[in-house]
Amino acid sequence: MEQKYIPKASLKAWLTKVNDGGRRLYAPVTENGKTNFKRVKSVDEISMAHIQTAQSVKGVAFPRAEKLFSYVRQQGDVALQDYNPSDIPDTVVFGLHPCDAAAFKPLSGIFGWGAQDKPFSERMQRVTLVGVSCGRSDVFCFCTSVNGHPGSAEGSDILLTAVGDDGYLVEIITDKGQALVEKGAELFEAATGVSKEEHLAEVPVRFSVEEVQRKIAGMFDSDIWKKQSARCVGCGACAFVCPACACFDIQENAKGSGAGDRIRCWDSCGFSLFTLHTSGHNPRSVQSQRWRQRLLHKFCYMPQRLSTRGCTGCGRCSRACPVDMNLAEHLNEIERL
Ligand code: SF4
Ligand code: SF4
Repeated sequence: MEQKYIPKASLKAWLTKVNDGGRRLYAPVTENGKTNFKRVKSVDEISMAHIQTAQSVKGVAFPRAEKLFSYVRQQGDVALQDYNPSDIPDTVVFGLHPCDAAAFKPLSGIFGWGAQDKPFSERMQRVTLVGVSCGRSDVFCFCTSVNGHPGSAEGSDILLTAVGDDGYLVEIITDKGQALVEKGAELFEAATGVSKEEHLAEVPVRFSVEEVQRKIAGMFDSDIWKKQSARCVGCGACAFVCPACACFDIQENAKGSGAGDRIRCWDSCGFSLFTLHTSGHNPRSVQSQRWRQRLLHKFCYMPQRLSTRGCTGCGRCSRACPVDMNLAEHLNEIERL
């Protein structure tokens, strides 16, 4: 892995070059007190004062709603206009934290399980991730409990770490990252004697994930799901903000009787309708079964089937929950059983 240094003033110049040439640049932007990833026209819009964005940036590869194909009835037949990957522009995401970059691994596992999901994999091929290490954390962060780290390079193509007030250590991890650095190679300097460790946030370990995974595998019939989910209102906020959640629904957007679009949109296993059968039977008819599914999927089924877990410890679900359910506390409770 090659290391370089970039002064803060040069970072803006480099991102301006990155934003040219038909690429889309997504970065954190603060509006009305909330910070979220937006497509930026000018790098002056970028804000890095937050600890965590409200939403993750998974939408660059798994959009909240996307058209999979269109259809039109023609002379007794149906003509399909398939998904066209050449419509996807090259995209650069700047400013995602290591917990968000790491979440593309479980997403890739889900969308590559059995067969490659074409829209997801085509988008991933066109995305370059420029991560920024965390210099601050809050009580909701628990990346270190799920084998992550505030300065982890996993998932990023380039990782920047602020080393003091004047500049960043730049770790170039992949060929995609190298190609992006070369858009403004003259702006980077040698990183002699620069270390990131003392500049990283401290995130305490809140539970042993190995112990949680060992215990949770035998807890399908436990009463703890009722206790933990007693106040869950099934709003689905935890899934919608999660960088690693991948539940989706397929909907029809009919345009008259002979044409329409097939749409894929985000869904949540916390919704009561998620598993409702056409017969009226619902195998997860109560919220405790949906909460059990959420935790077993992330900490049992995904490790077993995909050798990854569905949580990177970003803490968004706990920040967003309207009834203050705290995932790290619930996992800590499971560890202590
Ligand atoms: S489950 Fe919660 S803490 Fe884990 S990655 Fe998803 S939003 Fe973040
Ligand atoms: S955000 Fe909280 S209340 Fe809403 S579904 Fe998730 S755990 Fe339940």
